[in-house]
Amino acid sequence: MLLSCWENRLFICWVMDNQFVFDLNDYTCEFFALIRREWGFVEKLEHVSVTPQKTALVKANGVTKIFRSRNGETVEALTPTTIDIAEGEFLSLIGPSGCGKSTFLRILAGLETPTAGSLEWRDGAPSSGSDIGFVFQEPVLLPWLTILDNVRFPLDVLGVGKQESTERSKAMLSLVGLADFNKALPKELSGGMRQRAAIARALVYKPRIVLMDEPFGALDLLTRDRLNDELLGIHAETGSTIVFVTHSIEEAAYLSDRVAVMSARPGRIRTVHELGLNRKRSEALKDDPEFHRWLATLRKELK
Ligand code: ADP
Ligand code: MG
Repeated sequence: MLLSCWENRLFICWVMDNQFVFDLNDYTCEFFALIRREWGFVEKLEHVSVTPQKTALVKANGVTKIFRSRNGETVEALTPTTIDIAEGEFLSLIGPSGCGKSTFLRILAGLETPTAGSLEWRDGAPSSGSDIGFVFQEPVLLPWLTILDNVRFPLDVLGVGKQESTERSKAMLSLVGLADFNKALPKELSGGMRQRAAIARALVYKPRIVLMDEPFGALDLLTRDRLNDELLGIHAETGSTIVFVTHSIEEAAYLSDRVAVMSARPGRIRTVHELGLNRKRSEALKDDPEFHRWLATLRKELK
């Protein structure tokens, strides 16, 4: 293990397999104490070159959320939570139910205001209408509009011309494998197809960040696997920044560049793992011992 200083920030690196790089500035003293407790001592103190982090699209600094119920009771949904989300990365959030995953996403989306702490966006605060794509567990489509019109809807709201909005929406529907269903109504599609349409709608206006809250949680396993692969293809093609909430460890490991593990309520991001797995995911990865090591690590942390 190496303790390292790079650009005035302190890092701890587990160099054996080059997998763990923790930015200590993002963690509390409590975390440092935990490292000392778990591993006993730090072997060396020396300077190593650490791969520069990608540019942060958004920095969450000590974001906290306390809800106040109608009878005056308070619920601490998030204790100070700090993380940098890099441009173009696929970041998953995992953690026990009720640990504040949806709350954190809603704060990122600007749908909730943090009680304390702040979000620092690289290019200024985003507009929730055009800079953020949100995909929920249940696809929210307007039942009276065709699939094409549903996908085009946000572009119409943004005032994009009809021809351009139609072309962009058709291209996006083609990307999610729904080219033949432009004229269908939502009720004529399966759950998986409706979710694909919702993804197309979230991506069509090229948001700066796509937030997905257990988007495949209600689907059967086969459909989920297929959509996972499609989502990876879309991520590769569009280069979007994706923050993905799931409670499937396997899904998180399969999809992500990094996995953030949240602690039980009141939640916060406890550790962030850079997986370093082959970016070109395929089913073969699921037989890879490295992939299984990650599953074991993440499962252990969630216990
Ligand atoms: P997760 O998505 O990890 O399951 P949530 O972010 O939905 O967790 O919720 C975290 C905690 O905050 C839970 O205890 C939940 O009951 C509470 N909570 C979430 N939204 C509200 C709200 N609008 N009012 C009061 N409590 C809320
Ligand atoms: Mg949730």
